[in-house]
Amino acid sequence: MIDITKIRSEFPILSREVYGKPLVYLDNAATTQKPRCVVEKIQEMYYSLNANVHRGVHFLSQEATEAHENARKTVQQFINAASPNEIVFTRGTTESINLVASSFCRQFCREGDEILISSMEHHSNIVPWQMQEDILGVKLQVAPINVNGELLLDEFEKKITERTRLVAVTHISNVLGTINPVEEIVRIAHKHNVPVLIDAAQSVQHAVVDVQQMDCDFLVFSSHKIYGPTGVGVLYGKEKWLNVIPPYQGGGEMISSVSFEKTTYNGLPFKFEAGTPDFVGSSALATALDYVSAIGIENIANYEHELLQYATEKLEAIDGIRFIGTAKNKSSVISFLIKDIHPYDLGTLLDKMGIAVRTGHHCAEPLMQEFRIPGTVRASIAFYNTKEEIDLLVTALQRIVKMF
Ligand code: PMP
Repeated sequence: MIDITKIRSEFPILSREVYGKPLVYLDNAATTQKPRCVVEKIQEMYYSLNANVHRGVHFLSQEATEAHENARKTVQQFINAASPNEIVFTRGTTESINLVASSFCRQFCREGDEILISSMEHHSNIVPWQMQEDILGVKLQVAPINVNGELLLDEFEKKITERTRLVAVTHISNVLGTINPVEEIVRIAHKHNVPVLIDAAQSVQHAVVDVQQMDCDFLVFSSHKIYGPTGVGVLYGKEKWLNVIPPYQGGGEMISSVSFEKTTYNGLPFKFEAGTPDFVGSSALATALDYVSAIGIENIANYEHELLQYATEKLEAIDGIRFIGTAKNKSSVISFLIKDIHPYDLGTLLDKMGIAVRTGHHCAEPLMQEFRIPGTVRASIAFYNTKEEIDLLVTALQRIVKMF
């Protein structure tokens, strides 16, 4: 069960006002707000535990190192990875995908080899692969979706050829809310001996993510979308892959020994963490994950699903509304358009009423082209939102529709 009053009191920002109105924050797919414990963790680290990790014999350095490595174990347990060696800290989902695109392709791809994605990917799961098109001549293949925004699994399988080197798909679409059948996708790809990267930027905060059950080869997510600080992210990779792909960046920490003649690299996971890692960020992410675990991801998922159903029913009653993304299996992201009102106008007017939603292409321009729309208004729900806030959204939209 979700104790909403208690939860909301743990997020100080939720009680602020904008334009003299109570803030209704429905832009959670862009970034989530931070509970007090996460902010306090950052403060505590800088006030009492700040020292560079892995490098010092002194007390503080050892404590900071322990915090960073304990954070790695917390992430490992949160996604049920087999070993902490499989957890690499990055700057976010984007950097994690760039790391895999660069290192995996360098090791395994030659001109004409293919990377298979879906048409509902975020730019960060498109552009890094296109950069490899320029560098190595690999080809991007795109699996189609239906009008509801569901991946067509048969078509997906047909796109796998003997040149396919990697499948990279999102678990949950940041625009459509579609929950992709990732276990099935992995099963199909593995049948053809193709490894799979899962973009979990929109799923770790809403659903149980168990990498061993999923059997994915890589999985990526961002701390800031799961109530943790910005600037930190995670790359999960099976050891068998991380061991054989080359480092992404060079520098301190990722080496075993350096001479001008020959440099050897460190073992996992340090091989992929060049330079001083954000050990404050990793510790605060661990605090966020502990916070989420204490509430229970299943409880969060059930409550958010209830809000999704409530919001969908209420919004359906608005004259001229059109939902973009009507998959059977959906998470709490609602993209819509109303009549021919430009999404930017809807978003701006909602903002003046204290309601924060996102408008635009949501870093998924190819998906907008597929639906032949300029963008959408997107309300994305977190477990600190309430039915009252949904009512405020619906009433505001009704007022706006009357104005046009
Ligand atoms: N993938 C998906 C599905 C996303 O929603 C986002 C963020 N909107 C990203 C990747 C990129 O995440 P970040 O900007 O935190 O690197």
